[in-house]
Amino acid sequence: DLPLTLAPGRVSRTRKSPTLQARPGTPFPSRPRNPAHLRARALTPPRLAQSPRCAPARSLPAALCRLLRAAPNGRALSDPDPDTHSSRTGAGGEGGPGQRGQTGRSAVRGFLCGERARRVCRDLPKAGLRVGKGAVSLAEIPPPGVPAYLTTGPSQWHKLYPIAQGDRQSPINIVSSKVLFSPRLKPLKFSYEGCTSLSIANNGHSVQVDFNDSDDRSVMTGGPLDGPYRLKQFHFHWGKKHNVGSEHTVDGRSFACELHLVHWNARKYSTFGEAASAPDGLAVVGVFLEMGDEHPGLNRLTDALYMVRFKGTKAQFCYFNPKCLLPALRHYWTYPGSLTTPPLSESVTWIVLREPISISEKQMEKFRSLLFTSEDDERIHMVNNFRPTQPLKGRVVKASFWA
Ligand SMILES: [Zn+2]
Repeated sequence: DLPLTLAPGRVSRTRKSPTLQARPGTPFPSRPRNPAHLRARALTPPRLAQSPRCAPARSLPAALCRLLRAAPNGRALSDPDPDTHSSRTGAGGEGGPGQRGQTGRSAVRGFLCGERARRVCRDLPKAGLRVGKGAVSLAEIPPPGVPAYLTTGPSQWHKLYPIAQGDRQSPINIVSSKVLFSPRLKPLKFSYEGCTSLSIANNGHSVQVDFNDSDDRSVMTGGPLDGPYRLKQFHFHWGKKHNVGSEHTVDGRSFACELHLVHWNARKYSTFGEAASAPDGLAVVGVFLEMGDEHPGLNRLTDALYMVRFKGTKAQFCYFNPKCLLPALRHYWTYPGSLTTPPLSESVTWIVLREPISISEKQMEKFRSLLFTSEDDERIHMVNNFRPTQPLKGRVVKASFWA
């Protein structure tokens, strides 16, 4: 394998494009199949390719694939046919829609956690890669010969993450007549301290608030869980229209939005990353949001969204206690499931609250004004960022309440 070098600098993009909207009913941004501005770019080789030392930007995925295969724990990508990568190198200048300006390091960090991301970033230069702007997000790395726009949505995730078709995938449709009341399920207890919130960020698929999880100041206990689970982050999924947006559905009904509070088992595992790949490592609380009155607890958050409009942006967000986002009644359903975004690890004990909270039209619009895209890219509004429901495959959903 010849080491590839990618010089810093963006893939040339000379024209501003109009704002693009995700196609209704299609989770995640749908790429235009062959729009004029991309055809124009395809005829002009990327600036990066002009230097003989620089590989065309589109050969970076091959190099990253190789590197990640070699990386310790580098199971993020499976490359069914590595050889075909080389034949793509230098074969014209087709800049695919997936090749949007974004730093390689943030792309790596966006899809690998903690130590693993650090290791991969550290190892990039060893493999002859200088990664700068112009690198491709790992989520957008197309298998050989497949256009990037066909590989970005949930229906394509199984190609890079075979677990997408596993036996305990999330979200699911909760069928109320088939859930099992379990009197042994304990009440949920949330012990959150507001001072543990750190920052708010647009990670390119949701808006997320991160917490200091170095100790047990913010934990959830009870319910189906053994011991406390530490709060790591919360984020949301929502639709373009009110009738879709939530990931879980109840008797086929979607809600406009769903809040996920992500916790990890720090009694048993030493890092979030370690917990995220263990069957009992994570506990995620799902809260439905339905259109209605303004939610006073959401205002501080929705008022901060303008600061993180673009993918990859982050702002300080201290002293936010997410307890204010929980409904008064804490009846819940619980089942074993997975993360709903790559890497889709089957490590989540799901706890879905039955009672929704409300959100006003104005508050919801602020979520919809966020963008999937970075500042200089074609604007694609962050809407429909939910994964469709997955097969139950014999799992039983338990309820903490009599229906
Ligand atoms: Zn989520």
